[in-house]
This record gives sequence, C-alpha cells and structure tokens, in this order.
Amino acid sequence: MTEALLKYFRTKEQEVKSEKRYDSQCPYCSMQCKMQLIEQSIVSRKKYITIGKDNPTSEGRLCVKGMNAHQHAFHKERLKYPLVKINGEFVRVSWKEALNHIKENFMKIQEESGQNALAVYGSASITNEEAYLLGKFARVALKTKYIDYNGRLCMSAAASAANQTFGLDRGFTNSLAEILYTRCIILAGTNIAECQPTIMPYFERAKENGAYIIAIDPRETATTKLADLHLKPRPGTDVVLANGLLKVMIEENYVDEKFIQERVNGFEEVREYVLSLSMKEIEEITGVPIQLIRKAAFRFGSEESGMIFTARGVEQHTNGSKTVRNFLNILVSTGKIGKPNCGYGAITGQGNGQGAREHGQKADQLPGYRSIENDEHRNYVAGIWGIDPDDLPRKGVSAYEMMEKIHEGEIKGLFLMCSNPIVSNPNAHFVKEAMKKLTFFVAVDLFVSETARLADVILPASSYLEDEGTMTNVEGRVTLREASLPCPGEAKHDWQIICDLARVLGKEEYFSFSSAEEIFTELRMASRGGTADYFGITYERLRKEGGLLWPCPETNHIGTKRLFETSFAHPDGKAAMVVVPNIAEIPKEQLCEEFPLYLTTGRVMSHYLTGVQTRKSPALAARNIEPFMEIHPATAAKFQIQDQSLVKIESRRGSVMVRSKWSETIRHDTIFVPFHWADSQNINLLVSKELDPECKMPGFKVSAVKVSPVVDFLT
Ligand code: SF4
Repeated sequence: MTEALLKYFRTKEQEVKSEKRYDSQCPYCSMQCKMQLIEQSIVSRKKYITIGKDNPTSEGRLCVKGMNAHQHAFHKERLKYPLVKINGEFVRVSWKEALNHIKENFMKIQEESGQNALAVYGSASITNEEAYLLGKFARVALKTKYIDYNGRLCMSAAASAANQTFGLDRGFTNSLAEILYTRCIILAGTNIAECQPTIMPYFERAKENGAYIIAIDPRETATTKLADLHLKPRPGTDVVLANGLLKVMIEENYVDEKFIQERVNGFEEVREYVLSLSMKEIEEITGVPIQLIRKAAFRFGSEESGMIFTARGVEQHTNGSKTVRNFLNILVSTGKIGKPNCGYGAITGQGNGQGAREHGQKADQLPGYRSIENDEHRNYVAGIWGIDPDDLPRKGVSAYEMMEKIHEGEIKGLFLMCSNPIVSNPNAHFVKEAMKKLTFFVAVDLFVSETARLADVILPASSYLEDEGTMTNVEGRVTLREASLPCPGEAKHDWQIICDLARVLGKEEYFSFSSAEEIFTELRMASRGGTADYFGITYERLRKEGGLLWPCPETNHIGTKRLFETSFAHPDGKAAMVVVPNIAEIPKEQLCEEFPLYLTTGRVMSHYLTGVQTRKSPALAARNIEPFMEIHPATAAKFQIQDQSLVKIESRRGSVMVRSKWSETIRHDTIFVPFHWADSQNINLLVSKELDPECKMPGFKVSAVKVSPVVDFLT
C-alpha cells in the first residue's frame, strides 16, 4: 500500500487519535520486503496497516501476502503460554514446569537409548541467529547427529548443484539490479509472479530494455505470460531439455572456448555426450518440439549476456540436483557467469531459505557452510564453541530420512522448531504415523499446527513483529529485521527458548546469550573463513548500510555484489561441468494405465508453505479458501469431470478430494494442485518417498495419479 492510499484511508477514518510506525520485514518469501507496520488508535480499538518501505531489493513494493502479514501475528489463536498434553488435552503450564518436563523426558530417552535417540527439526523461516543456535544446540547441548530442516524440501537441489559446479551456493550470483541489463533470461520452473511477486518488475524492466525471456514450465502462469517463448516440457524431463539446449548451442558454436579453457573443467566429456544425443529422441521425451528447443538455444547462445533462474519447478524432483547442474552446464559453457549482467539465480522460496542453509541446521553442515565431515572445519568450529572436536557428532540424515529413523525406532524424541512436517513432507501419511510413534515430542510454534497437535509439549514462539535478527534474502543480501513489539503473553523468542532449554539441560555456559546481536557476534566468528563468510557484517553496519551481500570477510569490506569474476570457489578456481545422462535421470515415477496423469504441485500467491500463518489471515484465506485441481478441459471430459466439481485424486500412496478448475493452458497429461492445505486436502499424501540421491530432495513435482468425479452433496 502506498502513502497516497494510506492518506485516503486516514481521511475516511477521521477518528484516528494517534499513530505509531514500526519498521519490519515480511516474514514470507525470500524477497524479504522491507515494510512498515502502522498502528492507529481509533476511539475504542487499534487498527493495523502494513505499507512497503524502500530498500535495494524490493524497492518499496509489497505483495498481498506482505500487506496482510500482520493479521496472523495478531490472531486470537496465537499461542501465548507453554502447553503440556495431559490425558490427551493441552493444559497451560509455567515455563519452569514445561522446561523441567522436557528435561526429564529428553534425559530419560538419551540414558535409555543413546544420544542419537533425540532429533532436531528446524526451519528456513527463522533468523540466521536462530538457525545457527539450533545447529549448535543439537551438537553441543543434545550431542545428537540428527538435525535437519524444512529447507531440505525446498532449496536443496539448487544448493547441491551450485556447490558442485561453482564450489559455492549463494541464491543469486549477482545483485538483482543486473537483471535489468541482461539480454536473455531463462526462467526454468519458476512462477515468480505468484511466489515472489515483488521481483517481477526486475524482469518486466529487463523486457522493456529488450531482453528476450524464455520460460520453461508445463503450465501457463502469470510468469510465462511475460515470456517471449514458452517451452512446456513433460514434468520431470527438464534435465533432458537442458541437454537438448546445450547440444544446439555446441553445434552452432555458441560456446565460449576461451572461458572454458581458462575457467572450466569437464567440458569435453559433456560435449561428447550431448553431441551423441538425438534431437528427435529429446523431443519425444520432453514433448517440446525440436524447432522450439532450437529457437531457445539460438537466442540464449547468441546474445552477449544472459542469466538462468531455476526454482522448485525443475528442482523438486528426484533428479533435481542433476537438472540444475545441467542448466549450469549451459551457463558455464557459454561463459555467461562472473561477468556483468550474466549469472545464475535460484529463486529461493522460504523467507530465510538462504541464511538458514548456511549456518549449521543441515545434517552435514557447520556454520559458514563448513562441512561436519571435514576435520579442519570441525576443529575450527569446536574451537569457537569451546568444545573438544571429538565431541562434535558426525553427519546425520535428511529431513524425510529422519521420519524413517523414527519408524525404525532409532529416533525416539523430537525437538521441532517452527515447521509443519506432516503437511510439508512427501508420503505424508507415513510422516504423520512417525510423529505418533515418538516417545516424546516438543514443538515450538506460533499456532497449534497440524504437526504440533501431536506434540507432548508446545512452546509459544515469537512472530516476525516481535523477533529481532538477521535474514539473508534471495540475493544473498544479509538484512536486519528489528523487533517492533513485545512478545504476547508469555511467548518467547526462538533463540531464548533454545537458550532456556540448554540451561536446564546443564549447558548454560555455551548458551549464555542475552540478545540476538550477541548470537550474531558468535556466528560471525564461526563463519569466518568459511564460504559463507559473515565476519565483516555487524548490526551497526546493517543499520547504517541497509544490507550486505556475503561473502564479507572484513568489517571494511563492502560485500560481494558479483561472484566468480576472477575465479570459482573450487580449490583450482575452475567451475566443474558434469555429464547428465538423459535416461538415468528420468524420475522413476512414470505414467501407466492405472495412473495416467502427472500430478504437479506448487503455490498460489495468497499462501505461504503449509499455510499455518496465511490460513490464519482472513484477507489471504478469503482469496483461496481451499485447494483446487487445475485440469485441461479435454482431459476433464475424458474423465467426466465438470468444472468446479468435487474430484478424487489418487496415487499409489493415497487420495485427496479437491474441487476442479478447468484450464486451457495446462498440458493434457498433467494436473496441478497447490500444497498449502492440510489433513484430507494435503496433496503431499500422494507424493512418493523417493529422494534425489545427491541432495535428498523429494520428487514433489511428479506423481502418477488418476482422477474421478465425486458426487457433490453441496450442489
Ligand atoms: Fe515481499 Fe515475498 Fe512478502 Fe510478498 S511474500 S511482500 S514478495 S517478501
């Protein structure tokens, strides 16, 4: 909302007595738009309005989610007191009682079954300080190897690919400002118009400046409408499409031989492989006509600058990491990286998807993107934490694999922070059963989420309006979000909850922090010298400079706007290309007579992740009150499905019931359902447990399903 609109509302509400303004930051997607909450006192009540605030990333824009974000923070169902389940009912208790109850149960589990019988499950919505502290809590206070987080289900494929190709994973290799001047853009599997709306003007302005935009998506979306060329591959075949694009670029001599010679390893093997492929076969596998593949390749290859962006559409597959690597193969072989207006961006979904994957919440990771299996890295971080490196656990397993460990009985207790795994994980029924099997389960949340319902203890956390800390946005820009309001009732900051729990567990000396800034000071030291080096970033600088792009190794360093200008982050300074075979990488989940349609899932603009927050916002919930199944009218006719009618969708794992929505723009063999709803409308009940072997990403974007009409008693 602009100041002009605000003025209009003020004139209409003459009775406004006083007004306070708080600077904040949207809690939802990775744009992390800066905003201002305006609190107006009106006769007998308070009214809240959120407006955008200028900053280098979102430039003062907000989408509908940001404008209504405050609604969940003030919702009457916010948790304000610790709750303990007694005889199946949640009962309010004091913090002391709750913490002692957790201590007794955690200690009992570890005494009886060993340290690794406890696990920690984190979140990419919490601050950098809290993500850092949670990793330290698992390793130092609980001494368990089992910690992972919900970002595993979101960004892990892109992170894995960037680490392998470049030696470093930052969401965007450049600052967003460079998008305006690039000549060709590939948007692979990203619907930014719905998912990160405030980034759209960068692409719109690039187009006004003459950029040619190529969209890759099986559906027509608000984003693909911006494109000059839209390729609609069969779900799960993007990896093959990328091979086709690269084959044409190599054949037509669009590769940058000098760049490859000086800065790239592995090109010859890739060249040999892709030249051996048949374009006819690529067309058959992907469903994309050869002439369109050639058109896209000519355009990207021939322009002097170009950028590739990927997102969950090509990443959330059992071949997601290899798919992204193949798009990076295109980028490095055409030399469109490390130069002005050239680069790669993984459009991160979750608010702190970038920062939360850098500082130790991942199963195999230590702060600063260090590896928990590297002795030098272990020694360094153990030194910062003041522990013996031998006491540091080794790597654990990924988010979904922890669910399997619960079923196997190896994990018996869980500390869950700000996440809703029974809705967000694949094979959701299995995950719910895992939660029920836990001997003792603690959830930290704003609301009694679908997962928290199953907990033994729920601890009330702080919302974005109350919690101070840093976040790292889609660009890799670290920003500071100040606290605006005190926590409601007895709710506490997530970092305070971790420190309090560590104290009752006898580990106070390692967790004696009294502010988020103190934690950040330790994080800076722990990240120093790592690939994600935050040492030069301080709260004082963030307040003064508005945000800094990492790596920022010294306090007088200006941050790094463009990565890889002179070398990549591998020890030899070169990028690593890899052969990605067509056949080996096709997802196992294939269509058959019984399950003849592809189900692909995604987001709608008005909701965020599993909807725990946005479904509590009346303005957002009203926009999309329930999920829907997008289906082509010709396909709908084949299965006798009317528009806006109830339909049953079944896969090998289960079934859900949603309302149909005819769309001329989706592939005939594909249906689409958004994933923000729970219980009997949780689309992840249908998704397979198969994981990407490298990054452990589930295959959310391809499930073989059948659809059938349901008698609708309401119509
Ligand atoms: Fe900005 Fe994303 Fe929030 Fe929308 S949801 S206001 S784009 S941060």
